[in-house]
Amino acid sequence: MIKINDLHVIYGKEPLAMIKALLAKIELEKGLTAEMLIGLKPNLVVAKPAENGATTSPLLVEGIIQYLQEKGFNNIVILESSWVGESTKRAFKVCGYQDISTKYNVPLIDLKEDSYRTIKEGELALDICLKALEVDYLINIPVLKAHSQTRFTCALKNLKGCIPDREKRRFHTLGLNRPIAYLAKALPVNLVVVDAINGDLSFEEGGSPVAMNRIIVGKDPVLVDTYGAGLLGYSRNEIEYIEDAVKLGVGSGELASARIFEYNTGEKSGTVFKPGRQVRRLASCVVAKAACSACYGSLIHALQRLDQIGKFAQIEQLFIGQGFKKEERDGIGIGSCTAGFSSFIPGCPPSAHQIVEFLRNML
Ligand code: SF4
Repeated sequence: MIKINDLHVIYGKEPLAMIKALLAKIELEKGLTAEMLIGLKPNLVVAKPAENGATTSPLLVEGIIQYLQEKGFNNIVILESSWVGESTKRAFKVCGYQDISTKYNVPLIDLKEDSYRTIKEGELALDICLKALEVDYLINIPVLKAHSQTRFTCALKNLKGCIPDREKRRFHTLGLNRPIAYLAKALPVNLVVVDAINGDLSFEEGGSPVAMNRIIVGKDPVLVDTYGAGLLGYSRNEIEYIEDAVKLGVGSGELASARIFEYNTGEKSGTVFKPGRQVRRLASCVVAKAACSACYGSLIHALQRLDQIGKFAQIEQLFIGQGFKKEERDGIGIGSCTAGFSSFIPGCPPSAHQIVEFLRNML
């Protein structure tokens, strides 16, 4: 069974099969009883298909439902409230959740229509949708992606879809970071399943998806977010709400004491990568030969971080990919395949954070 300091990462291109395999590894059913109401909370912030990089893949949610139903758990609901100004019902439809609901007889709950309860958590009183509080086992299914205000969004911030629109607006007046941490304290989740297949490079509403080809599962949302932030090029202390959540005791951000299990590592290569304009600009300094998507995605996120801190223009050329495995030459290589280069960062794949630190020291 999965422990609080465990992270399970599976690579591949088929979210449905991947998540079923991963849930079997962690024996999800052992933490459940037949009478439990199980809530699935995807990220449907906007009404755009998952391919745009903003919303949770319906195949991932379908895989979770299939797994649960095959084990005899049929008391499942899908909960969401899209961002202010978007209709959750429209998002359910456009993102493929209406079809899932019909196919598996799983109700969709639009939390914009729900009532709420005020929960006092430390110095803050938070209004949280009743249905989210009522489920017995909450599975948070965020997308790993960038965010224009908080830099990064994953497990902790995805819970913002469990509060009324009025409360979402108030969160912004409170500085966003602190209330996100308090919300995670007030609304504990039982499991986090991260869609890190194709999250966006810069905005939570999508538009510049980057293939990362993996799903991450953990119980501690702070640990999951710390790990996820690293995949996008950030250390824990660069994401304010993760630090706030650590201080509040929501979870641990100590990756050093985490047990990380990886599966299907041979599946890191893969999906057809269709870079948008922004990604193409960042990739202009990259020479890739048979690069795995997981590795290439890490590099693109790292270059985005270096661009943000004004270092991107100093990079001349980087090499990445399995096609460089046997080459010995001058140049800067990314990933263990480039071990023959005069400078290279090991890892298979290295995280964006590792690449950022490596390149920062070289520039
Ligand atoms: S180091 Fe090589 S094999 Fe490993 S992920 Fe990168 S490109 Fe793929």
